[in-house]
Amino acid sequence: MPMSKAFENRLAPVLRQAAAHFGTPFHIYDEAGIRATGLELKTAFSQTPGFREYYAVKALPNPRILEIMRDLGFGFDCSSIAEIALSRKIGAAPDDIMFTSNNTSREEFDCAFAQGGSLINLDDITLLEKMPQIPELICFRYNPGPRRSGNHIIGNPEEAKYGLHHDQVIPAYQKAREMGARRFGLHTMLVSNELNYEYMVDTVIMILALAEEVTAALGLRFEFVNIGGGFGIPYRPDQTALDLQTLGREAVACFDAFQKKNGYAPRLFIESGRYMTGPHGVLVTTAINEKNIYRKYIGVDACMSALMRPGMYGAYHEITVHGKTHAPLMEEPVDVVGALCENNDKFAIQRRLPEIVEGDLLLIHDTGAHGHAMGFNYNGRLRPKELLLRSNGAIELIRREETLADHFATLEFKQNIWRPKTHGL
Ligand SMILES: *Cc1c(COP(=O)(O)O)cnc(C)c1O
Repeated sequence: MPMSKAFENRLAPVLRQAAAHFGTPFHIYDEAGIRATGLELKTAFSQTPGFREYYAVKALPNPRILEIMRDLGFGFDCSSIAEIALSRKIGAAPDDIMFTSNNTSREEFDCAFAQGGSLINLDDITLLEKMPQIPELICFRYNPGPRRSGNHIIGNPEEAKYGLHHDQVIPAYQKAREMGARRFGLHTMLVSNELNYEYMVDTVIMILALAEEVTAALGLRFEFVNIGGGFGIPYRPDQTALDLQTLGREAVACFDAFQKKNGYAPRLFIESGRYMTGPHGVLVTTAINEKNIYRKYIGVDACMSALMRPGMYGAYHEITVHGKTHAPLMEEPVDVVGALCENNDKFAIQRRLPEIVEGDLLLIHDTGAHGHAMGFNYNGRLRPKELLLRSNGAIELIRREETLADHFATLEFKQNIWRPKTHGL
């Protein structure tokens, strides 16, 4: 899906000059677009009791972005120490943080508790014994296994490493209560980038049915249910957007029914990452080479270190050429490639684009979530800078590009050589 017209209208007139000022490549994010989507989310779920979004920090872990989420009244879904630290740094209170880790280490629990106790979402029943203390409020992540199908990115629930087996759910809450927990939440996340609202409604139905089952078995009440992230965005031009309004409406009906039957209703939490920021970022990169062998290649100054999704998942990202959005497409398709010594370092494969000359600016769309954050340094390739197009039109550097000094920093340390003891010699 091309970036929104509004974002394009804000960016296009200043892009050439901004690129000259900051230098390419860079990701640039659209504050106005992020705020608009945040309001859209809040409006769609305004009738659902106590709705709250916990922004999935891993999607775009930048303090300036997290500040926007805080302004919107959102909490933060964190799954690592770094993500907790970042959220705390921009002023998130402990109970604004949902800690949804998996394969959790002692150190991670200590961190979550040291901060004053975030909302702890446990990924397994055995972790009850491994926490430094039992928090008053406890949540478990549920994996329905063969009861549901998943999707391409996250895999089938039955093969996914997350969450508790269905049969462990009641024993887990029972045990947590015995150990001292007094308040309860229930979490699940089954899909990633799902565009079908009905799947999400089915997840609401599933999680409420399970809450009801546990309520009936143990006589406890759930303060919230959390259906995780996974709200999809249309990356391809022929995909239709998730029908958020209908999803919101049908969710309300599910909560009303629950209320009637059980005499109370839990709050609805979600943890959208992609939906909130995905469409509101583009990677801007300059064409630096053209090569004609068995195929035509356009070489750009960004590579996989800036955006892993095409190479990692075969994901599609729309590409446009600045100033040529209405130019005719060339007959011959091209591969748009970076410089990494991996043949999957391609932003597009056999794509028809307008004629591209050296110096053209290419926009790789929808990089506002799981873009920069997923980048890596293989092959000594450094990650690019991040910019934020403010609502007032200013463009702010919100992360500088990596330098060779950053890259070599872990090679500087005190010499440390250990020799095994040689007994009896
Ligand atoms: C990654 C993740 C999310 C966000 O997923 P999106 O597809 O970006 O919405 C939310 N919750 C958890 C636990 C996650 O791991």
